[in-house]
Amino acid sequence: MNTNKLQLTDPVNIIPFVGPSFEKKLKKLEIITVSDLLHHIPNRYLDFSKFTKIKNIKIDEVVSIFGTMTFIKNQPTKSGKLMQLGTLEDETGTINMVWFNQFYLAKMLFPGTKLIISGKASWFNRKLAFFSPQYEKILPAGRQGINTVHTGKIIGVYSQTSGITNKWLKARIKYALDRIKIEEFLNNKLGLLNFEDAIKKIHFPKTFKEAEKAKERLAFNEFYNLLITAKERKRKLLKKRGVALIVDQLTVNNFIDSLPFKLTDSQNKVTKEILSDLEKNISMNRLLQGDVGSGKTVVATVGAFATFLNGYQTIFLAPTQILANQHYQTLNSLFKNYKIRISLITGSSIKKDEGISDIIIGTHALLNRKFEKIGLLIIDEQHKFGVKQINFLQKKNPHTLTMTATPIPRTIAQTLFSDMDLSILDEIPENRPKIKTWLVPNEKRSKAYDWISSQITSHKSQCFIICPLVEESESETLKSVKSVKKEFGNLKLKFKKLKLGLLHGKLKEKDKNKVLDDFKNRKIDILVSTPVVEVGIDVSNATIMLIEAADRFGLAQLHQLRGRVGRGKSESYCLLFTENESEKATQRLTALTKFSSGFELAELDLKLRGAGEVLGTKQSGFGNLKIADWSDTKLIKLASEAVNNV
Ligand code: ADP
Ligand code: MG
Repeated sequence: MNTNKLQLTDPVNIIPFVGPSFEKKLKKLEIITVSDLLHHIPNRYLDFSKFTKIKNIKIDEVVSIFGTMTFIKNQPTKSGKLMQLGTLEDETGTINMVWFNQFYLAKMLFPGTKLIISGKASWFNRKLAFFSPQYEKILPAGRQGINTVHTGKIIGVYSQTSGITNKWLKARIKYALDRIKIEEFLNNKLGLLNFEDAIKKIHFPKTFKEAEKAKERLAFNEFYNLLITAKERKRKLLKKRGVALIVDQLTVNNFIDSLPFKLTDSQNKVTKEILSDLEKNISMNRLLQGDVGSGKTVVATVGAFATFLNGYQTIFLAPTQILANQHYQTLNSLFKNYKIRISLITGSSIKKDEGISDIIIGTHALLNRKFEKIGLLIIDEQHKFGVKQINFLQKKNPHTLTMTATPIPRTIAQTLFSDMDLSILDEIPENRPKIKTWLVPNEKRSKAYDWISSQITSHKSQCFIICPLVEESESETLKSVKSVKKEFGNLKLKFKKLKLGLLHGKLKEKDKNKVLDDFKNRKIDILVSTPVVEVGIDVSNATIMLIEAADRFGLAQLHQLRGRVGRGKSESYCLLFTENESEKATQRLTALTKFSSGFELAELDLKLRGAGEVLGTKQSGFGNLKIADWSDTKLIKLASEAVNNV
């Protein structure tokens, strides 16, 4: 054996037979280093650990046999292909084996070859035989001490991908395992396997129990790594000094009193948390979670006001132009009695000169700008931005308030964002009525359209119709735009007497704003849109939300879409359509008809679809776990204790 040790950080192409072509295929599996390869773990196991003698073979029983080849030949089949017929012998008898289209076996497994085969026997020409058994040549020394890879033990099965066979993958993993040196990083083992053993045993466990223990340790590592990274971020943050603001409570209270509504208890509590952070010379790093409509904007605005009173600027980042516009209007109206200079910077428009503004609202367009007196950075829907982009704005250590309407289950939030302080708005203002939600069977589609028409004509209400993105992508592709346009055409025929508007991400900003303004001003009855309306837009007269292909959205996202209605005082409705009648889809969508809290829905989706869906970031890989499971709260707790003791 080669005694050169491998490191986890070595590139995977250090392993023999991993040439450029396989390197590419492995990259598709996100395997780039030896560590990635060794963390590519079996998704199930086959038990080939039972050895038996040939005379004891029973039909359909999965066993392994150690024997010697006595015969093998290629034989044409009726369809003109080749099959390989072979015979294996041990001291108790002989058994036939059949393979298909593996002509090289006739040469490779020549008579006299010692072999272990694993599989199950079935009838062939009225005798028992193995069809395409796993096989492994062994050296003349015999079976004792032989370290098999494919037979004779519990064998891992890896998820299939084009171009890489299990056999190939396993041989590469075996090579790496024989040479790997892995350092333990835990001082106290906490009853877990050590790291190196876990890596070895996950691929080649002696028992299922062992495989389980190995998986537990590797899952632990995932949580541990997330937590330790967050801890490191926090440590760095604590070292940096921020600006301690002075909060003029009286003036701030006057502003709060000037608002057109009374803050909820929840809003008051979070406002206090934010203001007291601003007074510290360590920069605030706070995550504000709150269901759609819980009133996050105004809370952030109070923070911006306190910052303004200190002569510092606030940067307010929004994920879309629509939203940036809306925040611009909201803040202008909330500050109408104050002399505060607010500017808006989006891709195509600059309103006022940002250089002298007190509050700068904008999209990605302002990410690379320099601001001299930035005191507070507010980020709406943080996960829509890149970490690096935000880091740039944070160079001067402003106080940072991150807001999200994605209800992240507490265990996840505390693991992913343990460097942040958490605030939660768990109250919806004014006891707005619950939104009646129906899962509408397809045969009732035209009835539903009739009902919508009558609601619009008799109650003067307005309606959203949401078409999903056709392709999996964070942003809209042309194909998706085409499909929403087509649906728009169809709907215009169905609602001949009503006025319909079309909104999608590929529209020019000017046109987007025109459509939205028309909708707000009731010049449009039905707004047909892609999910661009998901985050934030506020039209109080809209009371009906119809969602097409609802199964294709995460529950949290559906909940956010639904939150676009029910903003006024009238009864509001959400109609879900789907072609997918699978049990799982029905279960998920039915949950939406029952639960009205985003947090409950998120917990449920976490169980049903996994964290990627809940966080709405499947593509970005954020919060994705390879081995561990977010619902494993016991292990999360163990990892967090371990990290606290570092
Ligand atoms: P979100 O948390 O979804 O961002 P917004 O900040 O957009 O919510 O607020 C939703 C709506 O509720 C806005 O129209 C806002 O003016 C209103 N609002 C916020 N707080 C209150 C409150 N305490 N009482 C009544 N209405 C409120
Ligand atoms: Mg909002």
